[in-house]
Amino acid sequence: MEIPKFEDKTFDCKVCQKEFKWSARDQQYYAKKGFKKQPQKCSECREKSNKLRDESMFYIHCGICDKDGVSLSPPPKDRVAICEQCYNKLVNDSLGLKQEVAPSS
Ligand SMILES: [Zn+2]
Ligand SMILES: [Zn+2]
Repeated sequence: MEIPKFEDKTFDCKVCQKEFKWSARDQQYYAKKGFKKQPQKCSECREKSNKLRDESMFYIHCGICDKDGVSLSPPPKDRVAICEQCYNKLVNDSLGLKQEVAPSS
């Protein structure tokens, strides 16, 4: 089997418009992972967006299961915070409840 050859390439970052190098090693890594797409952002912008995602998560203490968890929305001040798992459970429960309550015609 032929091993594909990788060469360093340069791209323009879609975010900061700066030219960045996509090293042969990185390309190899991408190929190994099965990624078909080329990177759109330089490593700096990639790091920044990763950080931003982390910062948009809120750490909460769930008042139902008493576990620490993360939430995409800030914890409410007027009531207990609910983790994602418990929230999903509640939503499912209320959906089930609605179905039970719905009149059967
Ligand atoms: Zn960039
Ligand atoms: Zn919970």
